Amino acid sequence: MRLRATLCLSAAIMLAPAFALAQQQPPQSTTTVTILQLNDVYQVSPVDKGKRGGIARVGAMQKAIRAKSPNSLFLLSGDFISPSVASRLFKGKQMIAALNAAGLDIATLGNHEFDFGPDVLRERMKESRFAYTVANVIDKQTGQPFGGASRYIIKELGGVRVGIFGLLLAETASVSAPGPGVRFDDPIAVGKEVSRELRRQGVDLIIALTHLPMRDDKRLAAEADVDLIVGGHEHELLESLAGRALITKMGSDARNLGRIDLNLEKRTPARGSSGPRFKLQSSDLQAVPVTDAIKDDPEVAAVVAEYERQLNASLGEVIGKTSVALDARASTVRREESNLGNFLADAYKQALGADCALLNSGGIRSDATYGPGDLTKKDVLSILPFENTLVKVRVTGALIKQLLEHGVSTAGEEDGRFPQVSGLAFTYDGRLPVGSRVTKIDIGGKAIQPQQTYTMAVNAYLLGGGDGYDFKGAEILVKPEEGPVEPDVVMESIKKAGTISPQVEGRISSGRTSERRNVPNVRTRHSDWSYVTVPGFHAKGIAAYTIPGLTRTDAALVR
Ligand SMILES: [Zn+2]
Repeated sequence: MRLRATLCLSAAIMLAPAFALAQQQPPQSTTTVTILQLNDVYQVSPVDKGKRGGIARVGAMQKAIRAKSPNSLFLLSGDFISPSVASRLFKGKQMIAALNAAGLDIATLGNHEFDFGPDVLRERMKESRFAYTVANVIDKQTGQPFGGASRYIIKELGGVRVGIFGLLLAETASVSAPGPGVRFDDPIAVGKEVSRELRRQGVDLIIALTHLPMRDDKRLAAEADVDLIVGGHEHELLESLAGRALITKMGSDARNLGRIDLNLEKRTPARGSSGPRFKLQSSDLQAVPVTDAIKDDPEVAAVVAEYERQLNASLGEVIGKTSVALDARASTVRREESNLGNFLADAYKQALGADCALLNSGGIRSDATYGPGDLTKKDVLSILPFENTLVKVRVTGALIKQLLEHGVSTAGEEDGRFPQVSGLAFTYDGRLPVGSRVTKIDIGGKAIQPQQTYTMAVNAYLLGGGDGYDFKGAEILVKPEEGPVEPDVVMESIKKAGTISPQVEGRISSGRTSERRNVPNVRTRHSDWSYVTVPGFHAKGIAAYTIPGLTRTDAALVR
């Protein structure tokens, strides 16, 4: 997919006096500044079964572009040290090493950079050979931008003075884990301030390197004095024009390398004036696909290969055994009680100290069986690739009935809403009308009381309305940002038990007797595991919103 947009930017109206002067003195020459852009890169290795992305390919591309266009600057608009399977192990070290080798110049911080807390991020920033700018994320102790980042950076490229400043969405405070020592100022207000400062310093071109939702980028473009917004956060290929600034977002995982050629015309400012010496004439935007046709840069490839090797070794680690075949097949977990579903729900209930647990079978992925035999970390992560956190809620018996009714509302259809449970047993009849199919519920061995309250462990995805569940009226006891992560809880539970042997024990009865199918002893290999993007903290999510004026919006993709 290739975007090409040439925009004539009419700064004339806003800079009327300077424009009049420029008219009298015809242009002497044109200079092009080339911006290379990545944003929201979670994987150092290629994605889409190896077809797209990969930092080693990006490294090769940027070298080739710089060889022809020396006035180039390689920017990254945030979200790169988390989440991913590799980041679980290396805490983002693998990404910094790859980006160092790939020749990145400047990055800003994304919300996910704080996922491992402020101290880990400081370490990662120290390891970086590229510079950071973020103007609105302030270390409360020093009053300065976090982790030694700059408020702005000025670079001279082909005689053009380029000012770059970073901004991060203020919601990071609640959707990630920056801790109490970090302050997030209003990005629009700060953006206006910094751009004024830069213009006063006679900078020719102002670039905002942002990790903001598109609606905020548009506000920034309209209200601040910026020439280009190199953005991120949305995982879609987006371009927009607001105010007089082009806004670009390059999807995710380096599937595309953004290339923005800014064509500037040289002009002679009035004597003694510190005003800009160049005027932006036009911008050419390309989203250059990063494909398997591009040869790796050998230096980056060597870095990536070493981390892949360590990751393989680590995920192959045996954490325990199962004496029975664990059934993660969609045809089982989405239709009936499964021994694996019981094990997971039990682990969640125990970890949260709840009366009961409910999980959506759609959260059990791999569609395979495991064992009898050894269980590895890789097995657990292939069953639970989403790094959902668990929450604890207090709910009434009446609400539990509603939740279960929803869970069996499509019974028989292999729907991900079908529940797996712990601490409770229920009977339903799929022939009855939707909403009145559940005929009996026991909690802790006793009949459920509609008015009584019970505590329940569920994941943040369901609490947020995932798979159509509605927890309205639930009191939240452990919040999404406080709860443990599903695969961690499960690994811990297997380690503790040593050998597990969960059974189907009649927690879910469908009224009619169904033949229990034998679980065959088949083990499925998941060669793709390292490419699984783990949405993780998205469960802690940014609220859904729509972006006026854009044709492609998908709230579910906004992260
Ligand atoms: Zn983000």
